[in-house]
Amino acid sequence: MTFGYNGKILRIDLNEEKYSIEQLDEIFYRTYWGGRGFGLYYMLKEMKPGLDPFSGDNLLIFSTSVILGNQAPAMPRYTVCAKSPLTGAQGESEAGGHWGPELKKAGFDAIIVRGIAQKPCYLWIHDGQVEFRDASCLWGKETYQVEQLIKEELGEKKVKICQIGLGGENKVLFANIVNELTHFNGRNGLGAVMGSKRLKAIVVKGTTPINLYNKEMVKEITRNIAQRVMENPLSRALREYGTPATVRGFYESGSLPSFNWTTGYFKNGENLTAEIYNKTILKRRDGCYACPIRCKRVVEVKEETIKVNPVYGGPEYESVVALGSICGIDDLKYVAKANELCNKWGIDTISAGMTIAFAMQCYEAGILTRKDTDGIDLRFGNKEALLLLIEKIVKQEGFGKLLAQGSRVAARKIGRGSEKFLRVVKGQEIAMHDPRVKAGLALQFAFSDYGADHMKAPHDTFFSSKNSPGIKEMSGLGILNPLAPTDLSYRKVALFKILDIYWTIFDILGICHFGYVPRSLGTMDELLSIIRATTGWKTTWYELMKVGERTINMARIFNNREGFTADDDVVPEIFFTNFTEGPLQGKGALNRREFEEAKKLRYALMGWSSEGIPTRGKLIELNLDWLVEDLL
Ligand code: SF4
Repeated sequence: MTFGYNGKILRIDLNEEKYSIEQLDEIFYRTYWGGRGFGLYYMLKEMKPGLDPFSGDNLLIFSTSVILGNQAPAMPRYTVCAKSPLTGAQGESEAGGHWGPELKKAGFDAIIVRGIAQKPCYLWIHDGQVEFRDASCLWGKETYQVEQLIKEELGEKKVKICQIGLGGENKVLFANIVNELTHFNGRNGLGAVMGSKRLKAIVVKGTTPINLYNKEMVKEITRNIAQRVMENPLSRALREYGTPATVRGFYESGSLPSFNWTTGYFKNGENLTAEIYNKTILKRRDGCYACPIRCKRVVEVKEETIKVNPVYGGPEYESVVALGSICGIDDLKYVAKANELCNKWGIDTISAGMTIAFAMQCYEAGILTRKDTDGIDLRFGNKEALLLLIEKIVKQEGFGKLLAQGSRVAARKIGRGSEKFLRVVKGQEIAMHDPRVKAGLALQFAFSDYGADHMKAPHDTFFSSKNSPGIKEMSGLGILNPLAPTDLSYRKVALFKILDIYWTIFDILGICHFGYVPRSLGTMDELLSIIRATTGWKTTWYELMKVGERTINMARIFNNREGFTADDDVVPEIFFTNFTEGPLQGKGALNRREFEEAKKLRYALMGWSSEGIPTRGKLIELNLDWLVEDLL
């Protein structure tokens, strides 16, 4: 008997419209545990280097974990993996909601999709049954309509649906995968991979609860955390203000990413704060499976000139900034509208906002003119232009067709010096956190295998003083000394190694970063107890940290096979310059020499060669001996 997982992986062959079920032993589950662990295992075993991300041989892998669906607090997430069309690297993205736990209850731990369907289709998976269904009449429809039509067709109101929108169908390189209209596998363009397979949606329903090793223990810890959670100021702020709570601090300190990162000083930043958000557009709060925090926002605007439909949720911090100050826009109603458009058509808000901001800067510099932009006046702050461009991108129309390929490709095609306005790492647009005030973000952006990421490790501020939650609660991992957020010394690199692995475990297992230390009050002991009580495995943090490290090495090998080198571990040039105005004027620039030293040390600490390639010894240590020949 297995505990925590089903022991079944569903294989879908879209070419043949066939499926099969694979059953693997406990050693597989205990080596890779779920999420990117499962995804990378299959990608490395079954995908040839250099394949076209839109070929049928690019595997699109939806994976849960050995603990998902156990009803413990804040553990709702599943992972989608594939080779990314945006970066050409290992692609992955995690999403919350209810879809992942429902897939587990439907009988499967993961779905591996291969091939390209003859015509648009969707998968209907319910209690171990699998059906291929025609999606021709859903193709081209908005995500809300698709939800309604599928529920009507199946006569089931409670199914959970993940799907692509028009962005994925049209292979916008930053198209996302949407579940329940408001949760996203947002980054890396995985929606475009799904679109290339003509797979419109995966619908799941299950009635079999996950078999837990010690149900009473899981219940007890859950009760305990749920009772305490609102004592935690971070969790209280998250419920009250959501992730946009972060806007005020950045705005007041002069580090709110603005005008394509040319400044951190956004004089109308007050208009984007969570307080104004709550007063003007917030309709209600929402949450994910078994989560007591409920940090999600639902917004509504009902004005004569602008309307925002609450079915598409509401913008998170990243979206507020990427569709707001990054484009020089200070009107939350337009930010909410832009967010709604991205959600109903299925594109990533960060890459969408950043690509448009890049074009705006090109326009302001005279590199682009109205002739290039289909007559659009693309100055920073033009909120109508933002909405228009999102539509053009999704529909691949005119100037939007260029931007639909992301800012890196757009810069290559535009030329004329536009490259200097790029803010990407490995081809992915960076998220809305400035490494000049949190130096660990430079390491996250540079060393993320799936392009710039801000969720690779907890941020510097959680480790900045002896009273910080990271210092008080994570000594069990050897984290004892506080470090200044702007520190980029060898100490920060060593701390980053631990934190990177720690959060990789969260990604693998589907744990939400907002539920446990250092971001909330669920402790490391409680986390370990939940994992043990779910699986029955007498695991330790040592074992879990090795699992995290294993997948980091697998990703590194995957990228290495795809031609990525140490030269791809970079941060955008803008961060080597000082802030130009506001409270931080004349300060902040990262020290280039320090960053280069950090890079060398990172490789050494990971047990990699000076070129950043995992060594034979490291792979053997991590039970990845089957990858040693990839080093040759
Ligand atoms: S904290 Fe927010 S994102 Fe995390 S599981 Fe809860 S509702 Fe979902």
